[in-house]
Amino acid sequence: MDRILRGIMKYRVTDRKTMVEQFVKVRDNPEPKAVFFTCMDSRMIPTRFTETNVGDMFFVRNAGNLIPHSQHFINEMTTTEPAALELGCIVNDIRHIIVCGHSDCKAMNLLHDLRNEEFSSVENRRRSPLRAWLCTHAQSSLTKFQQLQKTGYSSPMLFQAETPMRKFVAYIDPENRFSVTDKLSQVNCLQQLQNIASYGFLKQRLETHQLHIHAIWFDIYTGDIFYFSRQQKRFVEINEETYNLLLKEILRYYS
Ligand SMILES: [Zn+2]
Repeated sequence: MDRILRGIMKYRVTDRKTMVEQFVKVRDNPEPKAVFFTCMDSRMIPTRFTETNVGDMFFVRNAGNLIPHSQHFINEMTTTEPAALELGCIVNDIRHIIVCGHSDCKAMNLLHDLRNEEFSSVENRRRSPLRAWLCTHAQSSLTKFQQLQKTGYSSPMLFQAETPMRKFVAYIDPENRFSVTDKLSQVNCLQQLQNIASYGFLKQRLETHQLHIHAIWFDIYTGDIFYFSRQQKRFVEINEETYNLLLKEILRYYS
């Protein structure tokens, strides 16, 4: 806690003044641009790597950047993620949802272990909320990943995005740069797009192109950030060479 308190003391004399000015500026006319889902991992600091600021984005963080499928929303039993989607996309009319996964994700490493039935047994799930969370909400990612694994990671995968008609093809790590669990993390990231689109309250916006879903992926060890390009069918590093092409694709598909 000392680290936190010292940080707050420093903030009081450094960023506070500018932030209060920004709070005032966005108070009457907030225009957040995206709902950003990412992992709770302490190394993920999305405002820093996107250089975003007060009023720019809504954030939702959990273990493994998961968005539960709507089939789990039963009799008003819900998790925070769909509520956040409603607050962001309906109440605040935000038009972009971003799901951001990352390398060396502890939740994804654990999910990978769930291939072992004993590990994911009901008894074990009852003892561990984290295992229960992953078994319930990330099973679809694991199943998809296992299909990919059978083909030696080389076959194209099919994912659904905004609507059942808007499917896209993905090649996962075609250059074979990343570990097995990082490949799972990328599959998981793309699987969340379908889960987001499963909510009826978003349907109309998704069908009429008023709301768009994107996937990005952060490599913890190099600091490289990748955008999933539906045109190029893979995660493409965002850099000086690819920026213009990616922006063009985004404007064409999603403006
Ligand atoms: Zn993580």
